[in-house]
Amino acid sequence: MERYEPNAIEPKWRERWAETGIYETDVENAERPFYNLMMFPYPSGEGLHIGNVFAFTGVDIFGRFTTMRGHDVFEPFGYDAFGIHSENFALKQNIHPMTLIRDNVNRFREQMKQLGTRISWGREVDTTDPGYYRWTQWIFLQLYKRGLAEKRKAPVNWCPSCKTVLADEQVIGGRCERCDSEITHRDLEQWFFKITAYAERLLKNLDWIDWSPVVVTAQRNWIGRSEGLQTSFPVEGADESITFFTTRPDTIFGVTFMVLAPEHPLANKVTAQEQRAAVDEYVSAAMAKTAVDRQQMERSGVFTGAYATNTLNGERVPIWVGDYVLATVGTGAIMAVPAHDERDFDFARKYRLPIRVVVAPAGWDGGELDEAYTGEGTLVNSGEFDGMASEQAYEAIIAKLEGNGTGERKVTYRLRDWLISRQRYWGPPIPIIYCDDCGTVPVPEDQLPVELPYVEEFRPTGTAQSPLASDASFVNTTCPDCGKAARRETDVSDTFLDSAWYFLRYPSTEFDDRPFDQERTKKWLPVDNYIGGKEHSVLHLLYSRFITMALHDMEHLDFEEPYEKFRAHGLLILEGNKISKSRGNIVSPDDYYASHGADTLRTYLMFSGRFDEGGDFSDKGIEGVSRFLYRVWDLVQRYHTQEGPGTLEGDGERLVHRTIRKVTYDLSELKFNTAIAALMEYSNELQHRPALHETEIRTLILLLAPFAPHITEELWEQAGGEYSVHQQAWPEHDEELAQLLEVEVAVQINGKTREIVKAEAGAAEEVVVGLAKESARIQRYLREGKVVKTIYVPDRLVNFVVKS
Ligand SMILES: [Zn+2]
Ligand SMILES: [Zn+2]
Repeated sequence: MERYEPNAIEPKWRERWAETGIYETDVENAERPFYNLMMFPYPSGEGLHIGNVFAFTGVDIFGRFTTMRGHDVFEPFGYDAFGIHSENFALKQNIHPMTLIRDNVNRFREQMKQLGTRISWGREVDTTDPGYYRWTQWIFLQLYKRGLAEKRKAPVNWCPSCKTVLADEQVIGGRCERCDSEITHRDLEQWFFKITAYAERLLKNLDWIDWSPVVVTAQRNWIGRSEGLQTSFPVEGADESITFFTTRPDTIFGVTFMVLAPEHPLANKVTAQEQRAAVDEYVSAAMAKTAVDRQQMERSGVFTGAYATNTLNGERVPIWVGDYVLATVGTGAIMAVPAHDERDFDFARKYRLPIRVVVAPAGWDGGELDEAYTGEGTLVNSGEFDGMASEQAYEAIIAKLEGNGTGERKVTYRLRDWLISRQRYWGPPIPIIYCDDCGTVPVPEDQLPVELPYVEEFRPTGTAQSPLASDASFVNTTCPDCGKAARRETDVSDTFLDSAWYFLRYPSTEFDDRPFDQERTKKWLPVDNYIGGKEHSVLHLLYSRFITMALHDMEHLDFEEPYEKFRAHGLLILEGNKISKSRGNIVSPDDYYASHGADTLRTYLMFSGRFDEGGDFSDKGIEGVSRFLYRVWDLVQRYHTQEGPGTLEGDGERLVHRTIRKVTYDLSELKFNTAIAALMEYSNELQHRPALHETEIRTLILLLAPFAPHITEELWEQAGGEYSVHQQAWPEHDEELAQLLEVEVAVQINGKTREIVKAEAGAAEEVVVGLAKESARIQRYLREGKVVKTIYVPDRLVNFVVKS
């Protein structure tokens, strides 16, 4: 073939790959299993967008590279097809999700195939398939039996637009993670998973798992461990006391007021008659605000007219209600120490409450503070603890309260239990039955799945009940224990439960009688390499760790961390803007498949920026990458038509080995952009070669194969290579030959050569200029005047223009 025609060769090779099944990993007999996982997408109506393609291409390149290095790579794909996102889209289109999702899945599959991925299509997973969600329900039941699933009434996040409750992790900056609406709160009886029971382990393992630091930090902060003191102050003239937690027991003598969250049960109980009206008004106004407003707006509060007693100094402490204290954080009550806490300081200023310094900063003159002092220091105004350092006083005060039984050292976590009920239609029904006589009864495992019925009216009701509640044939059932009439739970479970275990299913898709086969799981898990977005840090990535740990503790798994290695990829932007539906700048890969071919798109996406940072997707850049592939094509054609064979020696041979070393290293580190740059440089060099050697050409094709799988397959065949290029061994480099090429660079002063320095070929300008400036001779010239300009010609010269 004379010319490179992507649209002619790409479909041809995809067909051949499918026919020969080279990507259908033999999961039973693989000798060197390597589980290469990408985050399965939710199949949106718009189809795959360029951001997905960016992520999946990176995973696929790594999978192809690892295959060529002799591993049996398993690279599966599936669809996170339940959930509010999919359902909201169905509502908008007014198409039943059961119809819509099937069509979307078909479209996604086709688009992924066109991308030229090495996916094992025979092991596809779809979370909406009853054969899959049967096991999602099974996991719910295991957690229930273990006491890790519990129904209880709690103040919960409510999305007024999605008309459902949401977990804390799904509220981002006070807004719904799915639809961006502001979240309100409701008191509802809901199902929770006790992820908090695993807080310490989830935190501890972060010390050793090999994950991108950005995700580790996000999880650490989200789990939010803090150590301190829990104690309580009795309410004056009442039988009640206010329990609170503080990380600063050393400041306890500085308490000048206490604040209760508006939802705190004592807020109503302790309020004095004359303050009743003011408190009621304040509380109802606070309840109408969103959590974000409560955190961001100016601090406000109202005095209850009641007092507590500071057990350490016997002082009367006024009790206030303030909405900057959240019921869901800690005990929902705080001791306020305005001198040493910024929020309390603002509050005290506003309401003219006393501010008393009890930890003196170094050099403090005894005067008033302009702002809260939150550091450590020496205790003052603190009775018997005066003169102690903060650290010492911290221990002494805890010891004293523990000694008299009024307080205890405590570790608390910011992490809340995972709220998993959803008042929606599009999810697996929670497998629970309510019986008047037997109470809450789990559906027996042999009755799974509890199938999601086809319900014509699938719209969320807004009444805190799922649309399933109006389907009598679904709701009414018999009690598995006593056989009497009973009702089914009508909420469905959170989509994030579907995705919390999907990686366990892929290697075991053929087993109908178990969620995952023990032997298979031993062979393939934990996942060797997982790549995905960091936006899932405290959602999917945290939930799936918890589910894995819980299944491990129930002896279903022999490991407790699901992913040995996790790498976060960056986000692709479009001409400087975030790609999102709301901006209306969703880019589909389809146009590029047609205009440039999948190989060009793949290579361009990986070249446009660092994989862990993302890049800018603009049309301008893609042409350069397209030219690169045409050049590779032409090089191979030239090789076939050249007169005699080229030789491989000296610099030419060194360049081959140097390129192999560079591309190999970069690929292992997911540095795709610099690997492509090295291949471009290599192909440029080959263009200048009078005759090409077989090794030069074969190396080029093999190193390029993971990035551009179709063109390399075609060129490999043309070069007489055995099918398939993707099953060839990755080229090895010779370390000695790969040593750097040195070039001599002339260093000039005002155009006259004064020195020659040796530098690595292709070194960056600042490196070579730095080397030039290190020369003693050059330094002498430079001292004679001022450098007004530096001219740099790569690998050739540095010229300093000096004026005296
Ligand atoms: Zn929403
Ligand atoms: Zn019963």
